[in-house]
Amino acid sequence: MTAAAAARQILTRLTEVMASRMHAQAKLDQVVEIIGECLSSEVCSIYLLREGMLELFATRGLNQSAVHVTRMAIGEGLTGAIAQKVETLNLAEAKAHPDFQYRPETGEEKFHSFAGVPIVYRARAVGVLCVQHVEPRRYEEVEIEALQTTAMVLSELIANAELVDEEEARGLTQEQTGPQTLTGLTLVKGLGAGHAVYHQPRVEITQVMAEDTEAERQRVYRAFDKMREQIDTLASQAEFGAGGEHEEVLETYKMFAYDEGWSRRINEAIDSGLTAEAAIERVQQHTRMRMREIDDPLLADRMHDLEDLANRLVRIVAGQVGTAASQGLRRDTILIARNLGPAELLEYDKRRLKGVILEEGSLTAHVVIVARAMNVPVIGRAKGVRTTIREGDEILLDATAGNAIIRPLPQVADAFQARFAKSREKQAAYASLRDVEPFTRCGTRIQVMMNAGLRDDMSALAMTGADGVGLFRTEFQFLVSATLPQRERQTRLYRDVLDAAGDKPVIFRTVDIGGDKSVPYLASEIAAQDENPAMGWRALRLALEREGLMKIQARSLLEAAGGRSLYVMFPMVSEPWEFDAAKAVFDEQLAYLRAQKKLLPERILFGAMLEVPALAEVLDLLLPKLSFLSIGTNDLTQFLFAADRANPKLAERYDWLSTSILRFLRRVMQNAVGSGVDIGVCGEMGGRRLEALALMGIGYRRLSITPAAVGPIKELVRKVDLAELTAAMTGWLADPSVNLRKELSAWADARDIEYD
Ligand code: PEP
Ligand code: MG
Repeated sequence: MTAAAAARQILTRLTEVMASRMHAQAKLDQVVEIIGECLSSEVCSIYLLREGMLELFATRGLNQSAVHVTRMAIGEGLTGAIAQKVETLNLAEAKAHPDFQYRPETGEEKFHSFAGVPIVYRARAVGVLCVQHVEPRRYEEVEIEALQTTAMVLSELIANAELVDEEEARGLTQEQTGPQTLTGLTLVKGLGAGHAVYHQPRVEITQVMAEDTEAERQRVYRAFDKMREQIDTLASQAEFGAGGEHEEVLETYKMFAYDEGWSRRINEAIDSGLTAEAAIERVQQHTRMRMREIDDPLLADRMHDLEDLANRLVRIVAGQVGTAASQGLRRDTILIARNLGPAELLEYDKRRLKGVILEEGSLTAHVVIVARAMNVPVIGRAKGVRTTIREGDEILLDATAGNAIIRPLPQVADAFQARFAKSREKQAAYASLRDVEPFTRCGTRIQVMMNAGLRDDMSALAMTGADGVGLFRTEFQFLVSATLPQRERQTRLYRDVLDAAGDKPVIFRTVDIGGDKSVPYLASEIAAQDENPAMGWRALRLALEREGLMKIQARSLLEAAGGRSLYVMFPMVSEPWEFDAAKAVFDEQLAYLRAQKKLLPERILFGAMLEVPALAEVLDLLLPKLSFLSIGTNDLTQFLFAADRANPKLAERYDWLSTSILRFLRRVMQNAVGSGVDIGVCGEMGGRRLEALALMGIGYRRLSITPAAVGPIKELVRKVDLAELTAAMTGWLADPSVNLRKELSAWADARDIEYD
């Protein structure tokens, strides 16, 4: 029999054994027989890790009495060396190798040649499969490949059957099984306890050997096509973000997705008899092993990308298209992801979501805003997530402190629960401020409104006692929908929102899609135009050109507000004419409804968002047209600093408490004095205590913030003397070398004002 035929036979017979209902130990016994026979090797043995030692589990050719007796340490002898270095050995003369050690109980003195491969599970050796020959010979490449494939099949068997200690079978180190703390950047404050769920679950490979190789080849071809399509779409989707790290990742994805070598190796693995899933995993293992030898952080990053992509490929092949959101979420989920789009997060049931850990993420990315609105704590830029957290691990997430304790000790979990209870008490204390109006110590009424975007959010209005909804992000309903929401659906939503608000105002912002808020039905158009989506065809720019979209929304809002007040706000106005054009769409719809004798709103108040710095220079032209102006500090900051709000690399770089931003905002306020236009802030900045202080200190009296911040900000307002604060801010802003964060913290400390 040729080496190739022998290899093929091993895999065919292996398939039969694996498919049988035999006990795992019996399967191991069969495997050593098959390999020994096919390779005409006198010896074939399997060693598995148990209690930190490599134990002989099955053998053909060595003394059977050595089974479950012979044990060696990792690093001991040839077998130990293979496990330690996670590498293959192929030796014509075993005794000549420096790691060779003779174990008399096995009776292996007569053998010359030796070949062994590690049994790898998740990048660690959990055992060794080896063959020995009396005659000196080197095994051929196909034979070694067959051994490696067998080892891969065995690793799945070992992981699934409780053959050895579970943790060891999974090849986990103390780092992966004991308690660990991960640190990250606070994105949404709060505490959460639950169990890890990966956004993109790993596919467990159950069928390793193919029944029809040609069919497997076709599956892999199709999967590659689909994956390339997905990557191209991802690249075109603003949701994934543009610039910086994202772009690098995408470039790498593309490079791998179109890499001929990768697809060729997978095809070769299929040729050797594997299913598509197993072939992808087999190649991945191979790559992992090679990468272990290279100690280069940049390459490690690329490996991370390749793992991501290989996972994606396996998921496509296996037809597992959905994310964890579509797979029956556990009740206490701590979601783990590299990054998420806002629409992806919205797919999750918020009652079951207790927290999110992202490997990337930044403070004002829309996914974070959505999480904040869902009241789900989030940390981002967490390092070492995949090596530390396993699916199902218990996690205590302290997003306020920016850390997560993985697999906590019971006493730590108890202490955490105690803190959790305390924080709930605190929340309850904030809730008691619900009916208290936020007057400053000097008697000025500050408007504390809340931001919302979904029907469900409206319950927070009564719970927090906010003065109304200062920003209703209407695009959220567009994000959760696969198709453009119909007029009836929109009208129903707006009406429900107004009903829930009672006599409190709700400022509806017209659709702000594009940027990092991508919707499937517009993705290709946005992509075709934009290299830099945040500054591209988005928000009002898009809505004015897609007039149908704007008209439908205008009609829905006007109808929904029949008999009441309607507040409409346009996003991303860059020049006054855009405001006029948008308002004209409403006027036209109003005229239509009037002609139809429909019930019209009692009054309509139009406002604009100031997010584009250029608009600040023409306020004299714009303000007379407006009832109110709302400053979107999330976008405004990214444009002032020229720093993509979704770019994780810039996440910590720019501070809202910077002289430049605050001087800018103060100037806007000063320019508006006497205009009669109500000016407020609706970016995330206003929901942070020190930032809110700064805003009040430069004249802002209306903040629209995330619901969870309403209580804390009301409490803060009541402790402030505006004259004192304004004087302090004026002094600090006069000197750009002042560290505003430090000064404001000290100011707050001195007045017993709590901040974060
Ligand atoms: C902003 O840009 O500050 C804002 C409130 O709008 P969004 O975050 O939805 O872009
Ligand atoms: Mg904005």
